[in-house]
Amino acid sequence: MKVAKFGGTSVASAEQIRKVAEIVVADEQRKVVVVSAPGKRDKEDTKVTDLLIHLGETHLRDGHAEKALQAVISRYAEIAQGLELGEEIVQVIETDLRARLSFDTSHPGKFMDLIKASGEDNNAKLIANYFQSRGLQAVYVSPKEAGLLVSDEPGNAQVLPEAYDNLRELRNRKEIIVFPGFFGFSKEGNLVTFPRGGSDITGSILAAGVQAELYENFTDVDSVFAANPMVVSNPVKIRRMTYREMRELSYAGFSVFHDEALIPAFRQSIPVCIKNTNNPEARGTMIIAEREYFMNPVIGIAADKGFCTIYVRKYLMNREVGFGRRLLQILEDEGLSYEHIPSGIDDTSVILRQNQLTDEIEHRILTRIKEELCVDDVFIEKDFAMVMIVGEGMHNTVGISARATAALARANVNIEMINQGSSEVSLVFGIHEEDTDVAIRELYEEFFGAADGTVQ
Ligand code: ASP
Repeated sequence: MKVAKFGGTSVASAEQIRKVAEIVVADEQRKVVVVSAPGKRDKEDTKVTDLLIHLGETHLRDGHAEKALQAVISRYAEIAQGLELGEEIVQVIETDLRARLSFDTSHPGKFMDLIKASGEDNNAKLIANYFQSRGLQAVYVSPKEAGLLVSDEPGNAQVLPEAYDNLRELRNRKEIIVFPGFFGFSKEGNLVTFPRGGSDITGSILAAGVQAELYENFTDVDSVFAANPMVVSNPVKIRRMTYREMRELSYAGFSVFHDEALIPAFRQSIPVCIKNTNNPEARGTMIIAEREYFMNPVIGIAADKGFCTIYVRKYLMNREVGFGRRLLQILEDEGLSYEHIPSGIDDTSVILRQNQLTDEIEHRILTRIKEELCVDDVFIEKDFAMVMIVGEGMHNTVGISARATAALARANVNIEMINQGSSEVSLVFGIHEEDTDVAIRELYEEFFGAADGTVQ
């Protein structure tokens, strides 16, 4: 049995949903179909999830939001019309949305989750309805009925272990299951969403639950590329990569697959295949446990912006027991998570995503670090990018960092930080944001300049 997940652009319009149906009927092993909310039909378009966030926020602020509601309904109405489904399903969706809007708003996080999740929930109902209209034996299954249990943290659900046993029951269903992505239910019965882009996570959980032989993740590109095609023209396609490689690349800006989505599939050793709804014949990219890496120690180059560093210096820091813990405690007290901590003998830098900071938080942490840790110097620098070279086997291959630093030198990019060794599959360079694209291009040229088309 295969689990096939279709992302936002794959279900953005009637025309796209017809392609989804063709893909599903083409392989009878595709028994579980996970769907996103309708995404963008073109670059200027707005995702239904974003329309819903606007709807929820307007309702919370003004107590009503008819115009925003109509904008959502009309997206479904257009799809239903294009699929010749008739008015009934649009009525079902409108009734559902109005019921959600009349829910208790005293906990805005819970209310917003309820509204956001309607995007996938209603799309799953609509798509199941369309499959039935084509004579397929298909059924909408809700995460509640299936027992997709998650933690009770609005917008940041984590799957609970017992969910997998519950989901295993879906194996016994005869029909094609159409399942909404992006949310589950807490033990208390609250609807809770995963982080944005979380339908990938649902797909992976379902694949692990039903012990699928393959998790297919349908999106709008033929494969994962070795670098961002918006930065490097015509980058090579990756044919096979490991879970760890994908995890590192998706952490650093490869948006094709959610970084949290790998874990459930990885734990059950279920291969993941990234495929294109608009070109299902293309082989796609397989994500598996192991690959031969001797030919290609490096599989991809990624970069992500928006990092800052808290630089701390104190003479004899290396001898002060508990210094690191106390420093990190100050960050924890502010609810900040960090990404890297490269350290010297008397100094350390804590690298964080800078969107977590406000002027007040910055002021508070700088004051506390100065006063409580009696440091010689502390300051925050902003607007860094992390460029990552990713590949299994890189650490066993002589000369990778030499080639990378030489490439960055050629591009005249100053390296602010290097992190090699903590991860076995990546080498991270901290650079100034404005250098990101030229760094990626030069690194790409160095490691893939001679490649022709695909890398294993
Ligand atoms: N629709 C949700 C979002 O836009 C979840 C998803 O598509 O994966 O974030």
